[in-house]
Amino acid sequence: MARVQEPSFRKSVDMMFEKAVSLMDLSPGLREKIRVCNSTYTVRFGVKLRGDIHTFTGYRSVHSEHKEPVKGGIRFATSVNQDEVEALAALMTYKCALVEAPFGGSKGGLHIDPTQWEEDEMERITRRFAYELMKRDLIHPSQNVPAPDMGTGEREMAWIADQFRRMNTTELNSEACVTGKPLNKGGIAGRVEATGRGVQYGLQEFFRHPDDIKAANMSGTLDGKRVVVQGFGNVGYHAAKFLAEEDGALITAVIERDGAVINDKGIDVEELVAHMRATGGVKNFPGCEYVENGSAVLEKDCDILIPAAMEGVINLSNAERISTRLIIEAANGPVTAGADDVLREAGVVIIPDMYANAGGVTVSYFEWVKNLSHIRFGRMQRRQQEGSNILLVKEMERLVGKPVSEEFKAKFFQGAGELELVRSGLEDTMRTSYQSMQSVWHSRNDVDSLRTAAYLVSLDRIAGSYKALGL
Ligand code: NAD
Repeated sequence: MARVQEPSFRKSVDMMFEKAVSLMDLSPGLREKIRVCNSTYTVRFGVKLRGDIHTFTGYRSVHSEHKEPVKGGIRFATSVNQDEVEALAALMTYKCALVEAPFGGSKGGLHIDPTQWEEDEMERITRRFAYELMKRDLIHPSQNVPAPDMGTGEREMAWIADQFRRMNTTELNSEACVTGKPLNKGGIAGRVEATGRGVQYGLQEFFRHPDDIKAANMSGTLDGKRVVVQGFGNVGYHAAKFLAEEDGALITAVIERDGAVINDKGIDVEELVAHMRATGGVKNFPGCEYVENGSAVLEKDCDILIPAAMEGVINLSNAERISTRLIIEAANGPVTAGADDVLREAGVVIIPDMYANAGGVTVSYFEWVKNLSHIRFGRMQRRQQEGSNILLVKEMERLVGKPVSEEFKAKFFQGAGELELVRSGLEDTMRTSYQSMQSVWHSRNDVDSLRTAAYLVSLDRIAGSYKALGL
């Protein structure tokens, strides 16, 4: 069958949007208002490095301000361009609505290869980029709150927060200008691994629904499922680690920039990450078959495929050869609109990006709330809860006349600290959001995928918000 040419990332997101919105009763004007990207700021700035001025290009795109602040990561990569940033900003709008994080959508990017610069150089570049955005309130606790994305992490977020504080010395809530900060700089426990953890919770919820397991032509639980992961960075590594260590899944292949490693008996995730840190890639990892053409390994037969690197990797050129039952889009936009059609026709179930990687923004939301409230979650309640639990167990022991096991006591007495509360909030979000899109998927004949269902849930909330604003 002749296939149309692949659209851009932005167009691909719009096509998925159009498919869903055509099933809704919204006025053409409101549809267009939701679809368009409100603004994209492009900045070119120079930094004097290594004896010369180097000019960098960065973007911050605001897709929708139906809720403020707007939220979305900052990406450092050579692939960054306006189309990509706008597509990612749109996905942020839809994602926040789906998981009920009270933000509009935004995204930023800097066209740079971070591996080419020393740490102190990266700090100067990041601070200068942040300064340019802050001058226009494109980083601000009540207007626009970035977070990490590909090529950025806690380190960059700490620099950005510090830059904001220097430029706003009397701002009480300055820590809330960015999320994904280190714990000792106003971060929150559990943020680093939140997106990977969210992928795990999403898969666990999928396997609680027999109809969904059947739709993917699978059976059983996550235990023993063969998983292929592309991208072993923050999201891919954490997702693989939790699925292998806690759910018994087998990570049978990991695809990175320098190739892929395969072991059908299961790859040791911790050993592989240590090897990557030491060597910069997956090549020469002992005990595994190495394949130089990593993207070919996306086609390896498996139960669950986790693209966790970048957009557009599953497209019209390889979709027909993808041999999995379930794809969970840990990255943003890894499956193009055209590939989505091919895979659906082939019976592959796709858990869409706007849901699958929403763990990051969910815990970012908790971090922002923590920064605004200036107190660690659990600080007031933990010992009180512990005291009540001790009292209860003592009374139980007195009534029954037998002691409760020390193991039970150790677990039961512990009041919830910040990490436990963050995990609880994240798990609840991932479970309830899954259920909201899953029920639309199964209750409407005209909804053929979890992705369209996710858009319907999300767009309905955004439209409601615009209508409430009188638009
Ligand atoms: P990261 O930079 O920590 O990791 C990305 C990894 O992918 C790196 O190890 C890189 O070497 C690898 N990679 C890049 N291109 C590749 C390719 N073509 N083939 C194979 N491997 C490749 O980034 P991350 O934060 O893990 O983000 C990954 C994806 O997840 C992105 O799409 C991002 O938008 C999305 N995401 C991240 C977060 C977050 O909290 N970090 C939240 C939501 C979504």
